[in-house]
Amino acid sequence: MWGENKHKGFEIGKMEKFKALIFLLLIFFISGCGKKEYSKVEFLMDTIVEIKVYHKSKAKAQEAINSSMEEMRRIEQKMSYFLPGSEVSRINKEALLERGKESPLAEGWIPVSDELLSLLRESVLLSELTKGCFDITIYPLWKIWKFEGENLEVPDEKEIKKGLQLVGYNNIIIENGKIKFVKRGMGIDLGGIAKGYAVDAAIRVLKKKNINSAMVNAGGDMYVLGKKQGKPWRIGIRYPRREREILGTIEIEDRAIVTSGDYERFFFSGGKRYHHIINPKTGYPADECQSVTIVAKEATFADGLATGIFVLGPKEGMALIENLEGVEGVIVNKEGDVSASSGLVSKIEYVN
Ligand code: ADP
Ligand code: MG
Repeated sequence: MWGENKHKGFEIGKMEKFKALIFLLLIFFISGCGKKEYSKVEFLMDTIVEIKVYHKSKAKAQEAINSSMEEMRRIEQKMSYFLPGSEVSRINKEALLERGKESPLAEGWIPVSDELLSLLRESVLLSELTKGCFDITIYPLWKIWKFEGENLEVPDEKEIKKGLQLVGYNNIIIENGKIKFVKRGMGIDLGGIAKGYAVDAAIRVLKKKNINSAMVNAGGDMYVLGKKQGKPWRIGIRYPRREREILGTIEIEDRAIVTSGDYERFFFSGGKRYHHIINPKTGYPADECQSVTIVAKEATFADGLATGIFVLGPKEGMALIENLEGVEGVIVNKEGDVSASSGLVSKIEYVN
């Protein structure tokens, strides 16, 4: 009997251990812990791009990351005003051509690919939402400020005034797959929206490859897909005036989180900070905010909106965020005060 009991006891213990193991394995897989992290970093679109994927198979993860990176490279080649062979550069060049009956662009209509056309339409929508504060026709002014150059200086006021006359999203006409600029010398700069667009496109590729846990980060323009090891992603929001310090964190999944700040590209002149987000109404860098972070369903929209709200300012900007369905945000105003939209107030964990 004793022996039997002992034997039985041993058997039950073994069974329980087995069940516990199955249970643990189940939890492990349900929570995604069976997946490993794979990542790749590249310098693209003038910034550091990182793609991170969680998957059980190394080969599948790497293949998905490579295709996704390739897609971002393709978009850079198409949308950069900086690369002479891009579609945007072609449009900007054609916009400078003399119009006339003998010109192939007799009436000034420029053919545009479907992909670019839909991004132009979204840009116009963002201009309308932000009262013209987001405006891709900033290009002539952008060229005057020469932020991509080295010896940065404040341009001549007269030049800025001249440049301003060529800025205005209302002066682009989109019709039948073609665009027309009302004034000669206009042009487009997608720098305020293309990174977000590339992030969304990269995520679409990952989804097609059956990846359901990933992050794509293009220098602060980010999308987090699914969960990270079974938990929401915890994303830090930077202090605009304290390098490498975060003001707080939020937990998100299946969301874009994009920040526009005055600390990315700037120089000082006469004690004043001049940076790369230009107010299309004044021709000078916008100075109502230090940073704007937008959380939304798509990075394209979040990118344009963050840039536009940066110019619009903290008060009107926050009112706009509150009005938009599925959009949340954090604004740091020029004094450095932080405010969060109603849907984020209880979700932000402040560091100090
Ligand atoms: P970052 O490039 O640092 O992520 P943004 O998304 O805010 O920042 O985009 C800034 C870029 O957008 C500038 O480098 C310029 O190319 C372009 N830009 C500047 N001012 C405006 C504006 N008012 N509207 C649209 N694009 C802008
Ligand atoms: Mg932007």
